[in-house]
Amino acid sequence: MSSGAVNMIGFILLGVGLTRLFPHFWVWVKKQKIVRVYEERHNDFESLLCRYNPYFKSLDRPGRERFLRRVLLFMEMKKFEYIDLEPQETMPLLVSAAAVQLTFGLEHFLLDHFHTIYIIKDKYRYGLYNMPFEGHVSEDGIYLSWAHFIREFDDYSDGQNVGLHEMAHALTYVNFTVQDGRDNTFYQHFNDFS
Ligand SMILES: [Zn+2]
Repeated sequence: MSSGAVNMIGFILLGVGLTRLFPHFWVWVKKQKIVRVYEERHNDFESLLCRYNPYFKSLDRPGRERFLRRVLLFMEMKKFEYIDLEPQETMPLLVSAAAVQLTFGLEHFLLDHFHTIYIIKDKYRYGLYNMPFEGHVSEDGIYLSWAHFIREFDDYSDGQNVGLHEMAHALTYVNFTVQDGRDNTFYQHFNDFS
């Protein structure tokens, strides 16, 4: 084999290696960033989560720390789009907290398939349905009405919670429909849970 061919093969292997490693590298970069954010902001974020998320409030100290670190990573990995409302810091924080709450016992919690979360001011029309929507999950993202999200976390007693509901759809989607972000234990034992 000529040295040119060897070089070319080496180059291709390097390319394949880098492409494989890139997602891991990207998560590593994000993790370094959230270590810093955690150090600087954890008191602010903890008080917001205590105020709005009863599950977070019920956790002990190590549980709260683990929860918040997961929230920061989730928030960092997603893009948030705001429709008809001004973005506020609480929005990505609390929406990420809903996802982390639902998946807190699982190893894979990033709902990888979904890159974008749409936060909409209020209930909205979707497709040909006559009923207005509070939220839905489709191939391209997770959609939530902020008015309902915040109200339903505020009244935690009635079993109505669009944030947890849509994250459950998203969790089903990543585990059973696209298998992008699957948690193997969850997948294998889902029938037992059911
Ligand atoms: Zn539903």
